[in-house]
Amino acid sequence: MNSIFLPDIFADTVYDIDLEALKNEGIKGFIFDIDNTLVTYAEPIANEKIMSWLKDLRNMGFALYIVSNNDKERVKVFSESVEIPHFGKALKPLSYFLRKACRGMGIKPCETALVGDQLFTDIWGGNLLKMKTILVKPISEVEDGFVRFKRQFERRILNKVDR
Ligand SMILES: [Mg+2]
Repeated sequence: MNSIFLPDIFADTVYDIDLEALKNEGIKGFIFDIDNTLVTYAEPIANEKIMSWLKDLRNMGFALYIVSNNDKERVKVFSESVEIPHFGKALKPLSYFLRKACRGMGIKPCETALVGDQLFTDIWGGNLLKMKTILVKPISEVEDGFVRFKRQFERRILNKVDR
């Protein structure tokens, strides 16, 4: 099944992403979602595990950006805790801030990996720009009503594919 909503790569968590393989494929930078991708909605700043993983990415030479649909203050506080440039209220899947993040990193969308936990925002947005899209499983089941509503439709799509 080939769908604009499906990721190129499925990973249980960000820690399961094969960084060397991406590097070898020509990926030069990452755009991350925050909520339920890097941390839960309940964590205002990065924990030590995610911090040290992001450090590893930097040491490998990857450029990093955070693009989140959550409100600007949440995104600012989190992103500053990991010293990564960011856009909040990004309206993913719209391309505007995703493109801007690529420009900020000085790389092309096709050299960028987009990592997120939602099909209709993160993955759709990345696929529209032909980024390498990576879907992680949501870290926590605690989500607001609209996200839970969207999950039903995600399940219909994901149930049709082998992961
Ligand atoms: Mg998310």
